[in-house]
Amino acid sequence: MRGGSIAVVGGSIAGSAFAGAAARLGAERIVVLERSPGRLEDRGVGICIHDDRLDELVRAGHLGRDVRRHRLTVRRWVTRDPSPGGGGPDGRGRALWAQPMPFHSHHWAVLWQALRERTPATVEYRLGTTVTAVGGGPDGAWTSHPDGTREHYDLVIGADGYRSAVRAALCPEALPEYAGYVCWRGSYDAARLAELPGGAGAWPEDECATVCYPGGQVVLYRIPGLTPGTTQVNWVFYAPTPAWLRLDGPTSIPAGSLTDGQLDGLRALAEERLPPYWSDVVTLTPRDRTFLQPVYDMAAPCLAADRLLLGGDAATVVRPHNTSGAVKALQDAHAFEQAGRAVGHPAGDRPAGSWSGLLAAYDRERAPAGRELVDLGRRLGRAQVGAAPDWAAMDGPAMDAWWRGQLTGGSGFGGQALDRAAPRG
Ligand SMILES: Cc1cc2nc3c(=O)[nH]c(=O)nc-3n(C[C@H](O)[C@H](O)[C@H](O)COP(=O)(O)OP(=O)(O)OC[C@H]3O[C@@H](n4cnc5c(N)ncnc54)[C@H](O)[C@@H]3O)c2cc1C
Repeated sequence: MRGGSIAVVGGSIAGSAFAGAAARLGAERIVVLERSPGRLEDRGVGICIHDDRLDELVRAGHLGRDVRRHRLTVRRWVTRDPSPGGGGPDGRGRALWAQPMPFHSHHWAVLWQALRERTPATVEYRLGTTVTAVGGGPDGAWTSHPDGTREHYDLVIGADGYRSAVRAALCPEALPEYAGYVCWRGSYDAARLAELPGGAGAWPEDECATVCYPGGQVVLYRIPGLTPGTTQVNWVFYAPTPAWLRLDGPTSIPAGSLTDGQLDGLRALAEERLPPYWSDVVTLTPRDRTFLQPVYDMAAPCLAADRLLLGGDAATVVRPHNTSGAVKALQDAHAFEQAGRAVGHPAGDRPAGSWSGLLAAYDRERAPAGRELVDLGRRLGRAQVGAAPDWAAMDGPAMDAWWRGQLTGGSGFGGQALDRAAPRG
């Protein structure tokens, strides 16, 4: 596949990766249409990536080795100690298990910036551009915009996240399904840990903590700060649905928008359910760095047809327990690029059949891969949140056996191997 015009709807992780892949394939014109008007750098969240998955993506040319990241080595599972206060001798609760964790954590913005810098200057990024509708057919696709204009392309790629407008055109029946619980999220400068008992050193920098309580868990780890040499605390707190949450529209509550009462609810939950040290780590978070996302999942039945193609969360929404969403988005872009090469033609010789071949090869490969990840996310969610064991009765061997029981099936924690992402035949 060479030449042609491609619109990528959404300029986040998936959008930037697809724009880069389209450029490497030799598309003549690539336009990224992103509705956020401002700096996407401001999204302050952590993304963990398995070391093997990152190495594969670096070797395949999707990322550089020099992306600033933070090394994690162990995931320490803890729960409240049976002693009064629940903290045990160091306030950090009772250790359940030390699980090897060959991951690095990333600041979303640093990762996004690295991807953005790898897209050539010829890619046109249009920020503040909302796509209101999309359509496609055998000969081309279009996007429409709030001012009524319509733009025509050879291909429109939906990298527009879990409420994708492109998916609404391609397979309107595929809707994200609420998992029945939410995650509260927060981040702040890790220097503030010095305010806690034991100082900043009480929590080793390479440790990801998973604090388990009946009905949920909190995953906490450090990520690189926006300024080189600094780190931030990042946490994800899986919790029951708050009574005030409405689930009938766009349901994330952005940072800075939670009310005092809602934040009091989070504080009360942390104080009641977590060992004191971890409750303090959560409640140190400034209000303008605390937000909430309901947990959803969904696998679209069809990822490409009629000159429309879905990637990243637009194609497959996986519960965050898998720690695989960013990897999957990059692997989707890789599969698109491989499919494009497989149907390649010399420049100037581009029969219409090559587009349909590309779309079919991509769909064949990525639809089952997405379904596997969604299934794994459901298993992990059930085992860790919905139907979690009695944590008080667990120890190292029991945790090890419990974890292995969740990983049956093809896809691993942290995402699938990249050769699984390459179209076969
Ligand atoms: C709690 C939580 C923790 C996670 N942790 C991890 C982790 O540790 N590791 C990991 O790999 N993944 C993790 N993920 C998943 C990961 O964040 C995503 O899967 C990944 O970032 C891919 O996102 P995306 O680019 O597909 O979509 P998004 O980041 O949602 O981007 C979609 C973009 O499209 C734009 N857009 C939407 N609609 C329109 C429109 N109509 N017109 C124009 N633009 C539009 C949006 O503004 C946005 O910029 C986590 C997710 C959650 C919820």
